[in-house]
Amino acid sequence: MSYVITIDGPAGAGKSSVAKAVARELGINYLDTGAIYRAIALILYESEVRAVDDYIMREALSKIKIELRGKEVLVNDFDVTGEIRTPMVDELASMYSAVPSVRKALLSLQKEQEKHGSIVAEGRDVGSVVFPEAMAKFFLTASPEARAKRRYTERIAKGKPADYGEILKAIIERDKNDSTREVSPLTIPEGAIFVDTSDMTEDEAVKFILCKVREKLPDETE
Ligand code: C5P
Repeated sequence: MSYVITIDGPAGAGKSSVAKAVARELGINYLDTGAIYRAIALILYESEVRAVDDYIMREALSKIKIELRGKEVLVNDFDVTGEIRTPMVDELASMYSAVPSVRKALLSLQKEQEKHGSIVAEGRDVGSVVFPEAMAKFFLTASPEARAKRRYTERIAKGKPADYGEILKAIIERDKNDSTREVSPLTIPEGAIFVDTSDMTEDEAVKFILCKVREKLPDETE
């Protein structure tokens, strides 16, 4: 039996690490839809395609090929996996993902991933728009302060420069953009289980989700 689990939520709620761990535990694929939005935003920006011109945007989108190869993201056969994880691309992805033609162009690529077997999909609208029929849906969140603290700690651990105040400001701004855009705003999908991770460890969040998923997979033995 092939199935889909969705995990939506704002930036820094721990979605990526939780989704990856859940996928690993269940032995199924992990789909990072944010990486797809990041890749398209980067290429559109570098090609100087601006959000205001819908015709040029659609023309450009029709010529872009995005491919997911395990953890790698390729744009027109060019590996952008490392390049898409910067604060600048955080902002670009948030900006371009609000454009209806961008969301439309990326919908089928996301849906197609289901063909390769069961998946844990992570994003902003995976439970509401991409996989509304998912077997189990989760909405992972945490206070902006808790999320900023995590991002800050992550950056410091990687030896990257970090300013807590700046990170908090960027998170609040990105939340606002993602939840107020007209197309596919960040919302709690119908039927999703709400998980506030502010006072939870990653391990606790993973265990909670696995427990809920296993309730729906009666034949699976732990
Ligand atoms: O999850 P991540 O931070 O990598 O996503 C980057 C940006 O891509 C988000 O801030 C959001 O604007 C956009 N996104 C989206 N829909 C998704 C996944 C990501 O709009 N399903």
